Amino acid sequence: MKIGIVGCAGRMGRMLLKTVLETDGVTLGGGTERPDSTLLDSDLGVLAGLNPVGLTPGTDAAALFAACDVVIDFTSPAATVAHARLAVEHGTALVVGTTGMTAEDIVPLEQAGATVPVVHAPNMSVGVNLLFALTEQVAATLGEEFDIEIVEMHHRHKVDAPSGTALGLGRAAAAGRDVDLEAASVRVRDGVTGPRETGTIGFATLRGGDVVGDHTVIFAAEGERVELTHKASNRSIFARGAVRAAKWCEGRKPGLYAMRDVLGL
Ligand code: NAD
Repeated sequence: MKIGIVGCAGRMGRMLLKTVLETDGVTLGGGTERPDSTLLDSDLGVLAGLNPVGLTPGTDAAALFAACDVVIDFTSPAATVAHARLAVEHGTALVVGTTGMTAEDIVPLEQAGATVPVVHAPNMSVGVNLLFALTEQVAATLGEEFDIEIVEMHHRHKVDAPSGTALGLGRAAAAGRDVDLEAASVRVRDGVTGPRETGTIGFATLRGGDVVGDHTVIFAAEGERVELTHKASNRSIFARGAVRAAKWCEGRKPGLYAMRDVLGL
């Protein structure tokens, strides 16, 4: 299977190059970057922190789609929308990790899903996707006598809170309880808040140091507590998940899929 990486000089792009080059059964079909990138002369192997492989980033995305079985895209919403059209034109499967996609940006992905397999997930980590499924299952099993609190910690540079993943865990817990997260969530507590309201889903945000991403879902009742925790220490988990999704696309019928489908959860 030949895998292409669009945006191959980005933080995730380089990690994806490294993961593809180090994964058995797949070949690197090439990579693209923006025409104004200063890295167009860099060898893709060197960008990945490995030995040179004799390829440099191209600027012709159509040629990359034509040459590959699957393209992995961690770029920007505008670029991803254009790539979705190329996937259809060339019959190439597409794995999208780009975040910040609006409902409008998702439409071209849905359209591409009518012709080719497309996997789209704002968090490609296998562990986090497992945690989503477990959270929904545990929330459904334990019932309202267990209070649900979601605690997350990230590095000091993170600008949004709670994290998208924490909110995803909240949605999973709410789905398990069959409630609406917006109505049930308590995002901040400060001062005299009064006792905890039954059935709410609380969030707590910690920030500091270089923490890549820690998430814990706490189910707390009288006399016992269940905690589900995921700790990310390296961005490679997202690249490994994306390459796993790319391999999963082989022989798959067209559709817009999530990591849940890839992992059979
Ligand atoms: P980055 O800015 O380091 O990399 C993006 C790269 O894409 C840049 O090198 C840029 O030049 C390139 N690019 C943009 N438009 C292009 C185009 N039209 N053609 C070719 N290349 C183009 O950002 P990053 O940290 O690597 O993150 C990229 C995206 O992936 C973000 O949306 C981020 O939130 C998302 N992300 C998703 C996951 C996940 O698990 N789904 C994990 C980490 C990051």
